[in-house]
Amino acid sequence: MGQSQITIHNKAFRPYLSVAQLDEAVTGLAARISADYAGREPLFVVVLTGAFMFASDLLKRVTGPCEIVFIRVASYEGTDSSGVVQEIMGLREEVHGRHLIIVEDIVDTGTTMHHLVPKLQANGPASVEIATLFFKPESLRHEINLRYVALEIPNDFVVGYGLDYDGLGRNLPDVYVAV
Ligand code: 5GP
Repeated sequence: MGQSQITIHNKAFRPYLSVAQLDEAVTGLAARISADYAGREPLFVVVLTGAFMFASDLLKRVTGPCEIVFIRVASYEGTDSSGVVQEIMGLREEVHGRHLIIVEDIVDTGTTMHHLVPKLQANGPASVEIATLFFKPESLRHEINLRYVALEIPNDFVVGYGLDYDGLGRNLPDVYVAV
């Protein structure tokens, strides 16, 4: 991991989680999901854009047959959650009767999942669970059922590993936190 601070849009970030730490957490989560869904052929619903790197690493490690689709639900501006959930790209695949696993980058206030889960449930899936890379328990404002959490983190703004700060930082392999 880079040892020094970086600057994105004049904001300073320090190294927070290394590739190895992320890999360990994601590998553990993939093992849990693989065991839980053995024989069930789940449909992974990846929430773009922030979850793309997490989803790639997670799904490479999930064993057994599964399907993968991508949706886009919300815009996130600056370092505060906008709270606006906007479905831009929808689901084409038949959701009825399927076991859905939403793959999300961060559950922060929980607003995104609070809106998305009922929308998916309206299509009659057999089950809906959430797999999130990060969970910020201190900022949660909605009651949601979070079955799969790779890492719990404090209420700080993070970038890297798919997550951006105003468009930049998604390509960083490590995760950095605002100082
Ligand atoms: P929620 O709806 O749970 O408040 O927020 C979820 C979304 O907010 C995440 O999918 C993510 O896009 C964004 N978000 C929340 N916290 C952070 C953060 O620390 N860093 C970045 N880059 N995005 C965040």
